[in-house]
Amino acid sequence: MKTYDLVGIGFGPSNLALAALLEEKRFNTKLRAVFFEKKKTFSWHPEMLMGNANMQISFLKDIATLRNPSSPYTFLNYLHKIGRLEFFANLASFYPSRIEFSDYFSWVAKQLENYVEYSTEVIDIIPHGKAPHNMLELTIKNPEGYTTVLAKNIVVATGSIPSIPSNLNLDDDKSRIWHSSKNLEHLEKYKKTPLNSYRFCVVGAGQSAAEIVLDLHQTFPNATIYNLQRGFGFKPADDSKFVNEIFTKSNMDLFYNAPESIKEQLLSKHRDTNYSVVDAELINQLYQIKYAESVTGRTRLYFNKFSQLDFVQYSPSYIQANVKDLLNESINKLKVDAIILATGYKKKRIPPMIVQLSNLFSKTSITDTNVTRGHQLITSPKLLAGIYLQGFNEDRHGLADGLLSLISIRAQEIFNALRVN
Ligand SMILES: Cc1cc2nc3c(=O)[nH]c(=O)nc-3n(C[C@H](O)[C@H](O)[C@H](O)COP(=O)(O)OP(=O)(O)OC[C@H]3O[C@@H](n4cnc5c(N)ncnc54)[C@H](O)[C@@H]3O)c2cc1C
Repeated sequence: MKTYDLVGIGFGPSNLALAALLEEKRFNTKLRAVFFEKKKTFSWHPEMLMGNANMQISFLKDIATLRNPSSPYTFLNYLHKIGRLEFFANLASFYPSRIEFSDYFSWVAKQLENYVEYSTEVIDIIPHGKAPHNMLELTIKNPEGYTTVLAKNIVVATGSIPSIPSNLNLDDDKSRIWHSSKNLEHLEKYKKTPLNSYRFCVVGAGQSAAEIVLDLHQTFPNATIYNLQRGFGFKPADDSKFVNEIFTKSNMDLFYNAPESIKEQLLSKHRDTNYSVVDAELINQLYQIKYAESVTGRTRLYFNKFSQLDFVQYSPSYIQANVKDLLNESINKLKVDAIILATGYKKKRIPPMIVQLSNLFSKTSITDTNVTRGHQLITSPKLLAGIYLQGFNEDRHGLADGLLSLISIRAQEIFNALRVN
């Protein structure tokens, strides 16, 4: 059985940042490391790479710069190597397009190919041997079948899963109703006839919903777009300077050490830095369109406020969105060609793949499970192997945990905390 000092599970930006750091350190460590990624190749939210979408963080918060500005894996070095640095400088922007940032991630991933096994899914993790367990045993599935490997440390960075309202079932008709995480794949067939008078319904009022609405409006010049929102309208993301300091290492330290009740208050008070909010410039852009259409009288973008998708009926030539008006509980019927659910993502507090190890966690209940500042799950003395979590610690490390801002620094913190003997 192959034995590793470190197994990374998932190869998105979080573990990419860790692999970059390992590569930088390879001359002074002899760490045997591998990353397993279930996708065939590296990609970063490929179904939401619309031409109009920009990053919501500064390019300086790439996978390396804040940790080591002279790393070969910085965004600036990427620009330099591909010959776009001067022109990017001329843009005078801190916010590259998501297409460009995704290309940057892929460029880094290509250089770190030796660290990763693609088309490889971790499907089970159990303690190895007798207690105290020094190693974890991982069952992986790859194109050759099933195999097991041993790990002294695992770093779980498996991301979040699409959140679908419980009253809806996407299996009913996947080609006509889909989640934003599958957006571009499903739009392909509509793009073959872009001039058709499609009717699209987009559910949600967050960043993804706003981006999809704009993209549909631009891509399909004769389409009608309905955007269902529960409230009055899009709310702007708070990216003001003082508040944005939430996404710094020192404020993660403060948050981590704060009393539980204060943590809850802070998370709730500053949710609007990330959740159910939209970039202010994009809100303005959409409002301009709405206003311009009211002037010309050729309206094809409708914002349906106080509206909630209740249920969907399917017929061969259209699908009917039955939309509840939250003010008077009446149901409005919308006949459309497709429904896109921009209804966000969810994440469990403990990654499902390690829940079965929970009798070895140091806790009184699964929800009491705690994590060190170095992102290591605190285990009982019976489990000595290290389990590190990336992106599952928002309630313990604060709002930066699920975002890109601190991934370079987090990689260093995990590296420092690794159990190497
Ligand atoms: C459309 C969109 C735009 C965003 N834009 C920004 C932004 O501008 N700024 C920002 O800070 N944040 C942004 N985010 C937040 C997002 O969480 C981060 O961008 C980032 O993707 C988190 O990286 P990650 O590596 O932790 O998780 P992911 O990127 O989700 O990667 C997880 C990886 O794990 C793999 N995986 C899952 N389970 C297994 C398994 N069992 N075995 C093997 N592999 C597995 C998955 O295939 C995936 O590749 C955005 C999110 C979305 C959805």
